[in-house]
Amino acid sequence: MDKADAVITDIFVIGGGINGCGIARDAAGRGLSVRLAEMGDLASGTSSASTKLFHGGLRYLEYFEVRLVREALIEREVLLGMMPHISWPMRFVLPYHRGMRFDASAPASRLLAAVMPWMKGRRPEWLIRLGLLAYDTLGGRRVLPATKVLNLATSPEGRALKPEFRKAFEYSDCWVEDSRLVVLNARDAAQRGAQVMTRTRVVAATPEDGLWRIETENLETGARGTHHARLLVNAGGPWVGEVLRDRVHADATAGVRLVRGSHIVTRRLFDHDKCYFLQGTDGRIIFAIPYETDFTLIGTTDVEHRDPDTKPVCTPEERRYLLDFANRYLREPIGEADIVWTYSGVRPLYDDGASSATAATRDYTLTMDDSGGAPVLNVFGGKITTYRRLAESAMERIGAHFPDLPGPWTRGAALPGGDFPVDGVAAQIAGLKAGYPFLTESWARRLIRAYGTDAGKMLGGAQAAPDLGEEFGATLTAAEVDWLMTREYARTAEDVIWRRSKLGLRLTGGEVARLEAWMAERRASLPAAAE
Ligand SMILES: Cc1cc2nc3c(=O)[nH]c(=O)nc-3n(C[C@H](O)[C@H](O)[C@H](O)COP(=O)(O)OP(=O)(O)OC[C@H]3O[C@@H](n4cnc5c(N)ncnc54)[C@H](O)[C@@H]3O)c2cc1C
Repeated sequence: MDKADAVITDIFVIGGGINGCGIARDAAGRGLSVRLAEMGDLASGTSSASTKLFHGGLRYLEYFEVRLVREALIEREVLLGMMPHISWPMRFVLPYHRGMRFDASAPASRLLAAVMPWMKGRRPEWLIRLGLLAYDTLGGRRVLPATKVLNLATSPEGRALKPEFRKAFEYSDCWVEDSRLVVLNARDAAQRGAQVMTRTRVVAATPEDGLWRIETENLETGARGTHHARLLVNAGGPWVGEVLRDRVHADATAGVRLVRGSHIVTRRLFDHDKCYFLQGTDGRIIFAIPYETDFTLIGTTDVEHRDPDTKPVCTPEERRYLLDFANRYLREPIGEADIVWTYSGVRPLYDDGASSATAATRDYTLTMDDSGGAPVLNVFGGKITTYRRLAESAMERIGAHFPDLPGPWTRGAALPGGDFPVDGVAAQIAGLKAGYPFLTESWARRLIRAYGTDAGKMLGGAQAAPDLGEEFGATLTAAEVDWLMTREYARTAEDVIWRRSKLGLRLTGGEVARLEAWMAERRASLPAAAE
């Protein structure tokens, strides 16, 4: 049934990835009325498929992307302080050997070839040192430790690597649980008055008397809705071009370049908590990162991807590429049998005309268009790391249409559950265990890392594990699933085990089926996703 809605909101956001949710949160916090429509689950697009780093992007220095790197480096510590539950500092070990080469199209490579042709594309040690010095100083570190040199022959980080790697540089960046970041932004936006509608596809947006008339379809129920808004934000990620062309029917001058990136997850390959930054002989790099305690995450690839509606998957060639790349470094080679899971995402990069997918800019571009009679702001590119700054830039552009809009406020404003000090995780875990003595250490850690100071609210008055209801496996209980369904927009088992958590790595097929059946019953007693 068509539901005409007489309410006019200030902003209507298309897309519940990190950029849409970040903009919705910022706008709601400035007092604007906001609606957001996401056609799938929150973060079901690119924002759950990243490498999950808050990083400056050491590699981008070779492309002279100094603005992006500087902004991202500064942002790491700002974000860490706002969400110490889902983000934490990480040390990166960059083994050095003489065979490492630039991507030939990188501006730094071309410059070096002109002034030092005898280097023949090699990435010299002094240049890596210079890059790391810039990395250490550009962003004004306060919490994160500085770069140092490691002797791999004697340090524990050398044990997993082939003996030919004798020296490494160790530097800092941060980890973030990407899909939880999205959900917490959505929750915070909703707490500030935004209406977040998941499983809701925008099928058309038409300017009408200076406003947007937006038609939506609820993909669970088939119900159609009509909404009116003063300004439209197109944060469709890989679909940003499709939204412009097919929903808004605008002349899209700016283009989007879709570049797929895949990761493989293997059994745990090394017994320390640092990450490896591995350089190839073609200028590309991959990470090997300690993951979910018992696993190692390896990625990523850079492959052109034509159609946003083609589900990205890790192809056999990409699996082979990542295995071979890692095996150039690992003392104990890994193979197909070591892979327990793969995932892929599509980078919606701004098309700057770069020749290779690796070289295309990772910076973001915002375009505002009101030629149709009502304004639309389009978001191209961007990193998870720069989402908060991107939202601030979006608000600067949006501000032109809303006089007296309050200024920036999100810097330092904790996300739900993140209101404790950066070094306070151990104290949070101890506090939770004291309040709920039946929790094991790893269970309490998992809950604090997911919910922070909200973990106790989720557990409520439970005195013993059975008070939390059915247990689906790996400490996932009915109480937690209920929290995820009523507070965090989860609708299906997949939402719970792959985006609100990574328990999919641990649950058996039978346990997932039991969870799905329980959720189907619970769903029937809840309003549809968009209500
Ligand atoms: C392999 C890989 C690794 C990465 N690693 C990092 C990293 O380590 N650190 C970092 O900072 N960044 C990283 N990034 C970049 C980062 O993940 C992306 O820039 C970011 O997630 C993009 O977010 P988004 O909100 O623009 O897009 P998305 O997350 O894709 O969100 C767009 C949403 O819009 C929805 N949508 C589209 N059309 C409609 C419609 N008509 N109606 C309703 N909803 C619609 C989609 O369903 C989708 O959920 C990585 C990216 C990839 C692919």
